Amino acid sequence: MRVLVVEDEPDLNRQLVKALGDAGYAVDSAKDGEDGYFLGDTEPYDVVILDLGLPKMDGLSILEQWRRAEKKFPVIILTARDRWSDKVAGMDAGADDYLAKPFHMEELLARVRAQLRRSAGHAKAEFDCGKLRLDTKTARVSYDGQAIKLTSHEYRLLAYLMHHRERVVSRTELVEHLYDQDFDRDSNTIEVFIGRLRKKIPGEVITTVRGLGYRLSTEADAA
Ligand code: CA
Repeated sequence: MRVLVVEDEPDLNRQLVKALGDAGYAVDSAKDGEDGYFLGDTEPYDVVILDLGLPKMDGLSILEQWRRAEKKFPVIILTARDRWSDKVAGMDAGADDYLAKPFHMEELLARVRAQLRRSAGHAKAEFDCGKLRLDTKTARVSYDGQAIKLTSHEYRLLAYLMHHRERVVSRTELVEHLYDQDFDRDSNTIEVFIGRLRKKIPGEVITTVRGLGYRLSTEADAA
């Protein structure tokens, strides 16, 4: 999952990027409104954290323009604690959630997880595919009750496939959503990680759809 942080306070920007990166997301960040707007307009993010008070272009205008251009990613706005009117204006402009500053990073991460599963049409923190289970709260994966140890890259990849279980996901899409913009994007790395996941997960859970990409399936789907 790929996240965009648009925040002009350098310390908070750095803390957000670190916390989200540690939580296993690919993170891009912008420190002013113009950069933030441009990134959201051109890159496919899964969720965006948007401060409202920004130099060059304010957060509300950015959000309005994205929504006018049919950008559908969930947006969590950051507001000053006492500015209730900002929250209202933000929600009306197309924000999905808000957080008042100062906030606890744990709360922000929980809200990000909630937005990601909601946009996947899912209400619970756990995702199941047959005997395979992925818990987004603890970042743990198990098969038939047995824990499976994954590296952060493997987890990211599996989490993305689990969030989009109902369809085929192409390699290009995986590259775009699993790595930040500075990453050397070689879609062969995706194949390597798919291979590693297949070795670690019993059953043929990850199916290759020739020419299209990958999808998750259960024994029941195959029958
Ligand atoms: Ca600000």
